[in-house]
Amino acid sequence: MKSRTKVVVIGGGIAGCSTLYHLTQEGWSDVVLVERNELTSGTTWHSAAQVTNFGMNQTMVGLKTHSIALYKELSEDPDYPINYHHGDGGIRLANTQEQMQGYRHFASMARGIDVHFEVIDADECARRHPLISTENLVGGLWDPLDGDIDPAQLCQALARRARKAGAEVYRNTPVVGLTQHKDDTWTVHTEHGDIDCDIVVNAGGYRVNEVGAMMGVHHPVASMEHQYFLTEDIPAIAEAGHRMPLLRCPISDYYCRQEKQGLLLGFYEQDCKPWGMDGIDPNFVNALCPDDLDRVTDVLEGAFARMPALMETGIRTVVNGPITYTIDGAPLVGPIPGKRNAFCIIGLRAGLGEGGGHGWLLAQQIVHGEACYDTWCLDPRRFTGHTNVELTSLKAIEDYQNEFRFHFPHEHRPAGRPAKTTPLTPILAAEGAEFTVVNGWERADYFKPSPEFHPSLSFHFDEAFDVVANEVKAIQTGVGLAEVNGFNRIEITGADRHAFLDRLFCGTVTKRDGRVGLGYLLNHHGMVKAEATVANLPASDRGPERVWYGSAAAAEFHDIDWLRQHINADEDVQLKSLTNDQTILVLAGPKARDVLSHVSRGDWSKEAFPWLSVRECFIGFAPATVMGVSFSGELAYEIHVPNASLYAAYLALRQAGEAFGLKLFGARAVESMRMEKGFLHWKSDLLTEFDPFETGLDRFVKMQKPDFVGKPALEARQAEGLRKKFVVLEIDATHAPAHPGGSLMDDGRVVGTITSGDWGHRTSKNLAYAFVDPAYADLGCQMELDLLGSAVGATVIAPGQYDPDHSLMRG
Ligand SMILES: Cc1cc2nc3c(=O)[nH]c(=O)nc-3n(C[C@H](O)[C@H](O)[C@H](O)COP(=O)(O)OP(=O)(O)OC[C@H]3O[C@@H](n4cnc5c(N)ncnc54)[C@H](O)[C@@H]3O)c2cc1C
Repeated sequence: MKSRTKVVVIGGGIAGCSTLYHLTQEGWSDVVLVERNELTSGTTWHSAAQVTNFGMNQTMVGLKTHSIALYKELSEDPDYPINYHHGDGGIRLANTQEQMQGYRHFASMARGIDVHFEVIDADECARRHPLISTENLVGGLWDPLDGDIDPAQLCQALARRARKAGAEVYRNTPVVGLTQHKDDTWTVHTEHGDIDCDIVVNAGGYRVNEVGAMMGVHHPVASMEHQYFLTEDIPAIAEAGHRMPLLRCPISDYYCRQEKQGLLLGFYEQDCKPWGMDGIDPNFVNALCPDDLDRVTDVLEGAFARMPALMETGIRTVVNGPITYTIDGAPLVGPIPGKRNAFCIIGLRAGLGEGGGHGWLLAQQIVHGEACYDTWCLDPRRFTGHTNVELTSLKAIEDYQNEFRFHFPHEHRPAGRPAKTTPLTPILAAEGAEFTVVNGWERADYFKPSPEFHPSLSFHFDEAFDVVANEVKAIQTGVGLAEVNGFNRIEITGADRHAFLDRLFCGTVTKRDGRVGLGYLLNHHGMVKAEATVANLPASDRGPERVWYGSAAAAEFHDIDWLRQHINADEDVQLKSLTNDQTILVLAGPKARDVLSHVSRGDWSKEAFPWLSVRECFIGFAPATVMGVSFSGELAYEIHVPNASLYAAYLALRQAGEAFGLKLFGARAVESMRMEKGFLHWKSDLLTEFDPFETGLDRFVKMQKPDFVGKPALEARQAEGLRKKFVVLEIDATHAPAHPGGSLMDDGRVVGTITSGDWGHRTSKNLAYAFVDPAYADLGCQMELDLLGSAVGATVIAPGQYDPDHSLMRG
């Protein structure tokens, strides 16, 4: 066994084997994999091993496409061929028009990444899958590349190729401890000796938290028992003359594929069962949980009704094994929050289909710092601090119960809520707030007209349309108040704070006390990494001179890791997170200044407190820090208040606001208004797949600066010209917004992809943002949007349709 290597991958299931192989593909051959037993002895060996292409965003579809291409290539390797049924096809069934709407959207999204799903009716489903009845069936989504693979052969093939490229695999070598050294390197302690390395990867499957504990980390991953059975032969299969396509049923929660001349049926029962919450028997190796078919009778009946042939078919084998889930159903693939040189590839619930792609994206992140796709939907830092065993298990149960039911726009499922609240949460609930969830925070989405108001789940504009319109109107003509909780706020102190930030931001950000600026941070490839406001606070009785770095709620762990990694050893810079201590009250509208002047001493005139100012003050008797910034495009103030004083500040503002007709508003009104201003959202429109020039952020980049993170790479990219361009579009439709991922077409060719879409209530326009081929970026350029299966017109318009010269927000 080596005593030193570059990377140690812990775990020899599909996750570990794929990571090892792809590290060698990215050029790192001094890498090892350590497995406590034999390869595939965790979950992988007993997987149903279906390989599908469906995903709800382009990153997921793209990584699955990579798996499929890789597995096909492996299966055709004459030296070590493996069993892969490639391209049997698969159908995701639907029994409602709303599900069909969703499939049409996902087909539009996948088209942009050159994956071609087909939306088919019930008769066509039955034609392609001769065993199914069309009873209570509207149609389905056809995925031509679905298939299944031999999981053990797949892992052996990946390990074999990795070994040939120089990697080593140590079997029967349990990792028993991890030590990180001052220089951020690691020692991996195994039962057979220590291995020093630069980087560790946790690919421990259902033992993820045993490995996590060795580095003092709890990962939000829980295991569920999951069962399938194999049937005796079914004559109709042999008679069909072709292999049966895969089936996925959101009505009765089962899946099905052909196995020999019978079927394999797997179940996601409502009466489901978490596994291993209090620890896992160390001898649970190559093992299964006891069969328990009684638990799945609810879904079994649906499967029998859909495939009547099952009623005359015997069951050959039952398999019940642990399968891992995270709190939003997507795996955790990337850097481990708060750690250096530590990565994970865990929480895989469809790891056979996805594992090839996940290992590919992880290896790119390890070797190059970033992957070819924006991997935020997989990033382990997307959950922050509220994800203990209970919450993770509650979300895992909910996700398991809804396995084949995709999320609709504005859908926030109830399990594990409320996780993060402020003193205002119950107050806003009593005012009729409908809550959305942002990184665990309960945030008011809009205020319901009545307690019975429950908009339907739809890809069309829903019944909240007019409610949001009224909130926008109140802000535009008077004044509104909203709570924005969980906003990421990092206090930066120390003599070198400005020089530090100057190195990270690609533009000039104000250093003047009392002023606020907006800027962008790039990664080392010159791509957009983060967006932040910087507010410079002078020394006061509340603290020394300091900068408040503010960014999206979900960015809390992501941004602080990035900032920490870039502090030089000789720099006087300290970071402190205020995210959980402070909440923002947004006061917006032409009468916002009047309300503020009534509750806070001092001169709030335009001259004394112009746009982009920051000042410490009191709102009534609540200490507050007020910034003159606006996401709505109206005159607005962000009022940052310590949570202990939040209710006091809220009451003071409500009371003062009464005379001015102050109304509460929520996140959906903000979304509509920000699109009318052309403002971008982190991880919707600000992605690591595009540089700041492609994203239209030219005025925030200063190439004349001697240096900033990402500058050399950005210079090289500039020389090559733009590959894509960010545009604002007007969509010629009134029934539905453009949905993220939707494809823009010209003459049957995809020319762009939507990132955001919403109705602009002040401009009466259906607005969308997109990245398009540069040839389609000029004002007035026309194309078509594949909107839920229909082609509708899309025209490039100027960004910032509402008050383009920003005179309103300047007050
Ligand atoms: C019944 C069932 C059916 C499924 N069907 C499908 C399907 O059809 N399609 C699909 O895509 N997915 C399916 N899955 C899910 C898929 O099988 C898993 O996502 C995948 O196998 C997980 O792989 P992994 O590498 O993450 O974990 P594992 O396979 O569990 O591998 C983790 C490895 O880490 C090792 N390890 C743990 N701790 C240590 C340590 N301290 N030191 C060294 N090694 C350690 C373990 O021994 C193990 O070998 C199914 C799962 C189940 C249970």
